Amino acid sequence: MMGALFVPFLHVAATPAAPLKIVATLPILKEFTEQVGREHVEVRTLITGLESEHSYSPKPSDLKALGEARLLLEIGLGLEVWVGGLVKNASNPALRVVTTSEGVGLIRDHAPNAASAGNPHIWLDPENAKVMVRHIADALIAADPAHKDAYLTNLADYLRRLDQVQTNLLERVASLQDRRIVTHHPAWPYFARRFGFQIEGDIIQQMGMEPSSAHLAEIAKRIKSRKIKVIVSEPQFNQKVVQALADETGARIVVLSPLPGTVKGTETYLALLSSNVTKLVAALQ
Ligand SMILES: [Zn+2]
Repeated sequence: MMGALFVPFLHVAATPAAPLKIVATLPILKEFTEQVGREHVEVRTLITGLESEHSYSPKPSDLKALGEARLLLEIGLGLEVWVGGLVKNASNPALRVVTTSEGVGLIRDHAPNAASAGNPHIWLDPENAKVMVRHIADALIAADPAHKDAYLTNLADYLRRLDQVQTNLLERVASLQDRRIVTHHPAWPYFARRFGFQIEGDIIQQMGMEPSSAHLAEIAKRIKSRKIKVIVSEPQFNQKVVQALADETGARIVVLSPLPGTVKGTETYLALLSSNVTKLVAALQ
């Protein structure tokens, strides 16, 4: 005979939890985190889209935000050299630093500084973005296991959208004959590797250094002798050098951005990818 079972049920107080406080070094990491975390996260970014990804001017409010955050998301690879000191000064034992470049297949073409193991501009390849987004999802789940299902659903959703855009863009590039470009600074090797562009030289080889006249002369010579049609410029850098190079060689300037939000029509990561590929294809055709 079945007796009525009464199991006392422990109700955990169902007050809506405050969103998880997170600090990201770059806007791109903020965007990835918001895609996975949505209403469960509150993300602040240290570098804004209007600066270069290499420059950071600390604000007192940044230190306060780090003192209250559970996660700090960085690219790593020596891009954010200033982050170590900031974390130390925040002295927040609950803060976990998440390095989103872990496991990415690195291109070791240049090192911005001695701490660098490879080129840090990994996010410009959507396959690397997928690795980064997965790291972020893992970190969110570890810090806030109560919303694991939501994080996993949002992750799957965003990975699917990344896939769609990548497939569309690869189709757009497929028929391109001449894929050669000269770039402003070495931000583009992952992007070029994914979409099949060929980088023939960089105007700025080391961050924070103006190119020497000897290097500029060499780049100009290369553009002319190889009949390279396109120079990729970036809004964060001095345009005079690029304009002079274009005037001398007859190559066309295309302004692309490594970060969302600095050029019109690039407000999201996916829009940035589409804009960069579309502009390059148009210029190279
Ligand atoms: Zn850069």
